[in-house]
Amino acid sequence: MTDLKITGECFCGEIRYEISEPLQSATSCHCSRCRKAFSGAGSAYSVVSENKFNWVNGEKNLQKYIGKKEWGIGFCKKCGTTLCGIYQGKVVGITLGSLNGNPPVTIKKHIFVGSKACWDDIGGDAPQYEKNE
Ligand SMILES: [Zn+2]
Ligand SMILES: [Zn+2]
Repeated sequence: MTDLKITGECFCGEIRYEISEPLQSATSCHCSRCRKAFSGAGSAYSVVSENKFNWVNGEKNLQKYIGKKEWGIGFCKKCGTTLCGIYQGKVVGITLGSLNGNPPVTIKKHIFVGSKACWDDIGGDAPQYEKNE
């Protein structure tokens, strides 16, 4: 067994996490809400297992914003980097943009492409869905 450790952190480096499992297939959502939450073309995230994810440093600086139906995001109080997706109080996914280095992961699907920004030019071969898959 290789000792797999995938790490990530926010822009200022205060909050760091590690994941001890391969990243599962990732999704990019292009809806208007994700554009706001991620300040970009949309979200890009990978699901993580609760028991394979750990905050290594700075969790006290993690600010949670919980939106509709107990879904939310966690971001750094100091620098604003969006680090994780939260459901019912638990971390359920991490943002690909906060990963360190280039651990193997690919976007497997694009969702809510029907409401993407006009300047969002989606590349790659992953299937695109008008709404959710
Ligand atoms: Zn930070
Ligand atoms: Zn979205």
